[in-house]
Amino acid sequence: MSVNCTDCGGNIDLPQDAEIGEIIECPDCGLEYVVTELENGLLTLKELALKGEDWGE
Ligand SMILES: [Zn+2]
Repeated sequence: MSVNCTDCGGNIDLPQDAEIGEIIECPDCGLEYVVTELENGLLTLKELALKGEDWGE
């Protein structure tokens, strides 16, 4: 399966045997994603870089 990059819209390949917590880079823009598991057991990618986001502390 594959996921669309949230930044550049590129196609990121997500291997069936990817492991939870594994880091996968977008081949087009280099944005880093971490492999996470959905409630239904499927794997998906979550954007890793926070870009200096303010957590409101
Ligand atoms: Zn990208």
